[in-house]
Amino acid sequence: MTRLARWEPVIGLEVHAQLLTRTKLFCSCANRFGAEPNTLVCPVCLGLPGALPVLNRQAVTLALGAALATGCTVHEVSVFERKNYFYPDLPKGYQISQYQRPLASCGAVTFALPDGTEGRVRLARIHMEEDAGKLLHEGFPWSDEKSGVDLNRAGVPLIEIVTEPDLRGPEEAHAYLTALKAILLYTAVSDCNMEEGSLRCDANVSIRPRGATAFGIRTEIKNLNSFRNVARALEHEISRQAAVVESGGEVVQETVLWNPERGETVSMRSKEDAHDYRYFPEPDLPPLVVGTEWIEEARRSLPELPAGRQRRLASEYGLPGYDASVLTQEREVADYFEAAARASGNPKAASNWVMTDVLRKLKEGGHGIAESPVSPAALAGLVRLIDAGTISGRIAKDVFERMWATGGEALAIVEREGLTQLSDDSALEAVVAEVVARSPDQAASYRGGKAAALGWFVGQVMKRTGGRANPRRVDALLRKSLGEGPEPPVER
Ligand SMILES: [Zn+2]
Repeated sequence: MTRLARWEPVIGLEVHAQLLTRTKLFCSCANRFGAEPNTLVCPVCLGLPGALPVLNRQAVTLALGAALATGCTVHEVSVFERKNYFYPDLPKGYQISQYQRPLASCGAVTFALPDGTEGRVRLARIHMEEDAGKLLHEGFPWSDEKSGVDLNRAGVPLIEIVTEPDLRGPEEAHAYLTALKAILLYTAVSDCNMEEGSLRCDANVSIRPRGATAFGIRTEIKNLNSFRNVARALEHEISRQAAVVESGGEVVQETVLWNPERGETVSMRSKEDAHDYRYFPEPDLPPLVVGTEWIEEARRSLPELPAGRQRRLASEYGLPGYDASVLTQEREVADYFEAAARASGNPKAASNWVMTDVLRKLKEGGHGIAESPVSPAALAGLVRLIDAGTISGRIAKDVFERMWATGGEALAIVEREGLTQLSDDSALEAVVAEVVARSPDQAASYRGGKAAALGWFVGQVMKRTGGRANPRRVDALLRKSLGEGPEPPVER
């Protein structure tokens, strides 16, 4: 029995998402990435004596949006507490967070698994808290002697989304994170930019013999800066724990750091318990009260969510479930697809172009779909030219590349470059006759029963016409010219 067949992984994830507010959680400093260090700070977020926090209303509305979009129960009264610990990036010596009475609890997120089935994870809670600053260990002339601290991020609003330990493998963890990110992007709660730290993930993982109900001792993995690294780190940690137990040892409850370069986890510290933080209610803030009106305001501002849109795209446009799930990862991509599908009148073709060519080009250039040089209307124009038989599917790929490079319209490019499909038999017959005459051996082997030879002839005609020949006409003309072949003509 292999290791993973014997052991069942039990995984829970904690995701920190930065809220897309204009200002920080308790002061009016800008919530912005990339400014010069320590330029977005004030007495409140620096923790100077006498400075008092004032709660940002927009942050609460966004947190409510995340809670409602994940089916959580929102609590009308929640309480900010001080989480006390010392670290150089935390000037106050405590972080304002929520502990015993979080903003929301008991939600759930469904996600699509690669095998086409649907998974579900329960959310234990969503609470609000402020971010800490950031230590800068490199990039300065004095970096080999000391570290700097940038407090621009101190006080930036976060929500922490904590799952129940419902996930049963790295693949499920990855699928859940993908679904959660889609929800946060749709609702514009967060920009989910992992490179800028807007979305961070910690993973709790333990193993138990398959069939067991009790949980094993868990470790917490930190420093997971991409979904791929979450999956890799979990795989590594699961087999590490299995090896420890199988050799007669015990897993120790601890926090480990993932090292993506070495592909391994490194022990960081023994895991702290909640009482180590000496939580107590924040005396400078009253309990947060969100009445029905505020909750309804947040509910009204929610857009159509990814799961609902996925179902709608599948039914309204007759798309396979896989297409619908890829197209709804980002709201802008789904918008783009719907515009192209409607304008082209061929949703499946539009879906194929968006899922393969458009997303590939965007990925290559590191751009979002808003910056696509090919508009949905222009893509629809290309699809219509193929459907009308004006250009072949093969030529269309070239036309698309030119549209991407120049921002031009498909029809203009086709006309300018003379790429129209050759469907006229009188023009094609001459090429077919020439190709057949030049290759008597291939013609003989086709007549002698080698069906594949026909494909070779089609390829020759395509080559001579620069890919412009209508493949269906070429096929028919070749069969006519070569005589009866080994198989009846196939309608393509
Ligand atoms: Zn401030």
